[in-house]
Amino acid sequence: MSTVIRGKAKGQGQWALGHREPLNANEQFKKDDDGLNVRARVENIYAHKGFASIDPSDLRGRLRWWGLYTQRRQGIDGGRTAVLEPHELDDEHFMLRIRMDGGQLDAAQLRAVAEVSTRFARDTADVTDRQNVQLHWVRIEDVPEIWRTLEAVGLSTTEACGDTPRVILGSPVSGLVDEPVDVTAIIAELTDRYIGDPAYSNLPRKFKTSISWLPDVPYETNDVAFLGAVHPSLGPGFDLWVGGGLSTNPALAKRLGVWVAPDEVSTVWEGVIGIFRDYGYRRLRNRARLKFLVNDWGVERFRQVLEKEYLGASLPDLAAPPVPDAIIDHIGVHPQRDGRRYIGVAPTVGRVSGTILAKLADIAQRYGTGHVRTTPNQKLLVPNVRDADVPAAVDALADIGLYASPSQWRRTTMACTGIEYCKLAIVDTKDTAAALITELERRVPTLDSPISIHVNGCPNACARTQTADIGLKGQIITVAGKQVPGFQVHLGGGLALHAGFGRKLRGLKVAASELDDYVERLAIRYLAQRVDAEAFAE
Ligand code: SF4
Repeated sequence: MSTVIRGKAKGQGQWALGHREPLNANEQFKKDDDGLNVRARVENIYAHKGFASIDPSDLRGRLRWWGLYTQRRQGIDGGRTAVLEPHELDDEHFMLRIRMDGGQLDAAQLRAVAEVSTRFARDTADVTDRQNVQLHWVRIEDVPEIWRTLEAVGLSTTEACGDTPRVILGSPVSGLVDEPVDVTAIIAELTDRYIGDPAYSNLPRKFKTSISWLPDVPYETNDVAFLGAVHPSLGPGFDLWVGGGLSTNPALAKRLGVWVAPDEVSTVWEGVIGIFRDYGYRRLRNRARLKFLVNDWGVERFRQVLEKEYLGASLPDLAAPPVPDAIIDHIGVHPQRDGRRYIGVAPTVGRVSGTILAKLADIAQRYGTGHVRTTPNQKLLVPNVRDADVPAAVDALADIGLYASPSQWRRTTMACTGIEYCKLAIVDTKDTAAALITELERRVPTLDSPISIHVNGCPNACARTQTADIGLKGQIITVAGKQVPGFQVHLGGGLALHAGFGRKLRGLKVAASELDDYVERLAIRYLAQRVDAEAFAE
């Protein structure tokens, strides 16, 4: 390692450089006790003695290691989000995130999620843009029973949040379509080996992974991504990307220029997460994601450290494969390799409920094999439907609000949790986005090509603000001297062939109440001025 790098890194809390003393409160509580250990206290103390018994460093820290965040106390407007103390925003109920690595559920798992929602979460359920399902209104008293219910069918909330390896994104159609590598077993191996492993439960920040053969996950927004690629002499494997992440200071992942064999994915993944654990910056949380290290080192140095210090071997070079045209969303009816069909449906901005999920399980069992997939676009797939059953299945899904032929607006609009439950939120998102879709379907029903709208309640970009055609970042804005909920607009972002962040035009802010007028104007202008099949981002 060069002295220049050592000098630059000094004092950033990098373990590999000997900086083991915590430099902030988060690092301190992680050092005091591993986040995974909080489970025993939930089981033995908190579930019996109630919310008031929870230690503050568990409440706002370690419970995340088991997918639990306190949700926002009801009735606190966005203008007060930044000025109130954290404890003033805490409700005594929790958001619970259930991890669904690769987004695959069987009938028993789907029914377990539905049961937990209806019994313990006031019938709430949101499909997230990382293939998870999130519930709200969960009481600490019920958490042990929830864990038992989920774990009995092979689901978990382990490391669903926190400074940990988060849910692994995987192609929603793995194993269903013709692809040289089915990533299902690779994701299962990684999950089994590393999720809940104390060796990787104290990272500088969260660590996001995607593994897919097809470009149907937003691979460039992950800390590490394995995207299917054929090596000219070695055959099918993966192109390795590192250092993606949105939020403030967004960065798209960069190619390392190496090919990874399918049976080497877990070894290489462990090398990358090892670099992050050991060399990641731990002084400032807003500089702790892997993207900052990748940016400072550059891909050549990152590859060198990976190969020399972590793998002990060189990886084969891989020239840049063709860039995928777009990220596939799988909505509609599509053929499987076995002659059956899968049906991709669009719940509005990912919002469902336990009741809907139970009905979905019935439909999936009646017309398919009971299996369901979640997608990174807040959508759902029902695989294994016989051709003759497709019309009846599509109708049954529509009856519960899951549309296989949604409007372009319903298909491409996503929203994060927002002010309804999120303590960081400044504005409402889900209801705002749902109302926007309904209004745009009425005003601009002729939209025939996608304009993606990603509605976010604050700068954290959980619904990928910067990679949408129209990215909306919630903030309080001033209109005619009054402070009102609104959005900073980012225009023209995208992934894959259109990779790049939306332009944040200075002064381009829209009041939430005028969002429909604004998007309608944009859409009409696009439809009038586009040349041939020109995409919105062009
Ligand atoms: Fe909460 Fe902000 Fe993330 Fe939305 S983007 S879920 S408001 S932290």
